[in-house]
Amino acid sequence: MTEPKRTMSPPVHLTDPYNLDAEPAPGCDVCAALDKQRKEAREQGRAADAAVAGIEIANHPHKGRRRK
Ligand SMILES: [Zn+2]
Repeated sequence: MTEPKRTMSPPVHLTDPYNLDAEPAPGCDVCAALDKQRKEAREQGRAADAAVAGIEIANHPHKGRRRK
């Protein structure tokens, strides 16, 4: 049995790396989709999936606030 090869973990340098309740950015489709996934995962008791979605929301980069 061999351990599955680990991919490198993403660097997390936010003030709260496990901000599972991160607010989705207004107007961001990706954040909105992740927020929906998180909600559904929680409703279905999939805590790990909910956590992943929350982390992705927290780490989703947004360049500027303006949308054109
Ligand atoms: Zn976003």
